[in-house]
Amino acid sequence: MPLLTPGRRWQPIYYPFRKEKLSHSILNTLEMLYKGPLWGCRQCGNCLLQETAFICPMECPKGIRNGPCGGATEEYCYIDKTRPCIWHKIYERAFKMGRQERLLEVLPPLDWELVGSEQIGKLVAQVKKNGTSKVIRGLTSSDPVKRKVTWDGIFRPVRQPDWWQGDAEYHAPAYTEPISGLEAALKTGQFVVTAEIQPPQTSATTKLKKNIEMIKPYVTAVNFTDGASATPRMAAVACSTLAAQQGAEPVLQIAARDTTRVALQSDALGANPLGIQNVLCLSGDSNKLAPAPQGRLDILDLDSIQMLWILRRMRDEGRYLDGREIKFPPKLFLGAAASPFASRPEFQALREHKKVNAGAQFFQTNLVFDPDRLDIWLNELAKRNILDKVYILIGLLPLKTFKVTKYMQAEIPGVFIPDSIMKRMEAADAAGNAAEEGVQITLELIEKIRTKQGVHGIHLMSVGWEEIIPRIVTEAGLLITGAP
Ligand code: SF4
Repeated sequence: MPLLTPGRRWQPIYYPFRKEKLSHSILNTLEMLYKGPLWGCRQCGNCLLQETAFICPMECPKGIRNGPCGGATEEYCYIDKTRPCIWHKIYERAFKMGRQERLLEVLPPLDWELVGSEQIGKLVAQVKKNGTSKVIRGLTSSDPVKRKVTWDGIFRPVRQPDWWQGDAEYHAPAYTEPISGLEAALKTGQFVVTAEIQPPQTSATTKLKKNIEMIKPYVTAVNFTDGASATPRMAAVACSTLAAQQGAEPVLQIAARDTTRVALQSDALGANPLGIQNVLCLSGDSNKLAPAPQGRLDILDLDSIQMLWILRRMRDEGRYLDGREIKFPPKLFLGAAASPFASRPEFQALREHKKVNAGAQFFQTNLVFDPDRLDIWLNELAKRNILDKVYILIGLLPLKTFKVTKYMQAEIPGVFIPDSIMKRMEAADAAGNAAEEGVQITLELIEKIRTKQGVHGIHLMSVGWEEIIPRIVTEAGLLITGAP
């Protein structure tokens, strides 16, 4: 037992005196001295500066290390409106510097044992491993390819530990037969409808079961949100299990906000036995939106891209995050959220590209009210050559009142409602038929969206108005033959 054990808050002050090799102490102090003032470094133990256009991603209040969340805007971070979104800044600078493709590399979650430790020693060790004279020759070579290879040979092994080995490549699923009914329907080219049911804020399941029964014949799969708006509701895994028991196909949403690397892998193993094959990974609404008292904002153990990477490798390589073999790997059809209008379409497309590379097989997008603007995003995805690698379901919300319309426009990041729809909803609200107008708008949007190349279906988010789903599906002509 050491003589002095400072409180956790005061530990950093004692770091220079902690029991470690003198060389480490010197390098740690040196690194803090120059990286602190230059980049606001907090010594995460795995420096990503070269991949993030020399802006430290740990400035992100959610601690996301693989790109912006769906709430990113050009103007500000939606969690802290006094600051810009650091990921927007990273993207902006990377595009200016021509380093945007470096943002595609899937970066690992933190190894918390290394937090607070320096990088210089690891880099020096890597130089020695590669042969100091060879490194010097490579770095001073007139051949830019040789210089790059030498440079990467030093930094990549430090940045990408053996248990992660992230890259910027697309990894096709290692199976051919569809894993789920949703995947099967998408593969046959059917224009698919999925819908969201809000898990109840109670332990009673009567209404939930009634809603599942009601919409089951009209949709291919039913999503269950995971603590939407950071508010406690019945667990998505419980709702998904009930849906499977009722013969509906569930899409289990897992929010990074409430998961950890252990919980995610455990959930993945438990999904199939419960009848769950579709899993949608997303960052989740920030605790900022939660009812008070507010939880920590910056403790994401994983981001949604890391979740996809882990689940894909569990399924296709039969490996846990730590590399151990899984005897019976889970079979999962993996989805992700996409946000076409959150910031510039080329930025969003890059983010979606990275998700596809990491393992996303289908996207359910944020709410879309402007199909023309959607084309710009789809074009950007086409330029990235990913439209044939991912199924896209466009998120739609039947507006019920003008109040809801205004709220969506003003408060939900990434949602853009054109003036024409705002005016229609305002007039309809004044005339007392806003809900009917909302339905008509949704039907018109479906009509425009279903012809777009690269779109494979719609995802209805009714936010508690589940009764409207059968009508919309029927009137849009999307009812599958055989349903009521
Ligand atoms: S990425 Fe990590 S090591 Fe690099 S500057 Fe940011 S906090 Fe420091």
